[in-house]
Formats: sequence, C-alpha cells, structure tokens
Amino acid sequence: MYCERCRLVFDGGKCPECGKKSKRDVEPDDACFLTEQPQIFSDMLTDILEQNSIPYYTKGVYGAGLAIKIGPVNERFRIYVLYRDLERAGDIVTGLFESPVDDPAGLFADQEDRDTK
Ligand SMILES: [Zn+2]
Repeated sequence: MYCERCRLVFDGGKCPECGKKSKRDVEPDDACFLTEQPQIFSDMLTDILEQNSIPYYTKGVYGAGLAIKIGPVNERFRIYVLYRDLERAGDIVTGLFESPVDDPAGLFADQEDRDTK
C-alpha cells in the first residue's frame, strides 16, 4: 500500500505516519520516502544516488524561517526516490548509515518534537 500524502510504502490498511487509509498499491513511478538526514548526510547520500543514476528529490523538514533561526547546518532533509529504485537506494542508505529503511517507526521516532511546535 502507498500513502500519497506521506509518500510512504507500508503493509496493511493504514499509513503508519498519518493514519490515513490507503486506497491504492504503490506504482513504480511513485515517489517514496527513503530517509531523513541532517544536511551533511543528505548531501553525501544524494551524491551517491547521482553516482548510481537514481533520481531523487529532497525536501527540507523545517520551514525556511526556522531553518534560518537554527542555522542551515542543522537543517534536516527528507529524501525521496521512485519506488522502483527504493530497494536499491535503501541498500545504499543501509550501507551508509546502518539504519533500516523498512522500519518507518524507527525512522520517525526522533521527530516527535516537531509536531508540537
Ligand atoms: Zn500517510
């Protein structure tokens, strides 16, 4: 299943991130959430993705105002890849950070403070 809002692939009826019920399966061209990393690691990762010819896009986690306040060095980026590249990109992430991409709960565990802002 695939959540269009969170760009998350998951098993079961509900998205683990937003709780929305999904109505469709993931397509090869769907953008999927890969990982969230501080800028220094996301730069490193996107370099490797480029070397492997994996298309991606990144999105800053914080709004522009907050990014200025805390400094761009502390900005975190979410990286998305197409579903057909997700497994390959996931292997790269695993090799780079040793963080499993098939564990959305673990990936999102450190994001709770953001929701209370
Ligand atoms: Zn969702």
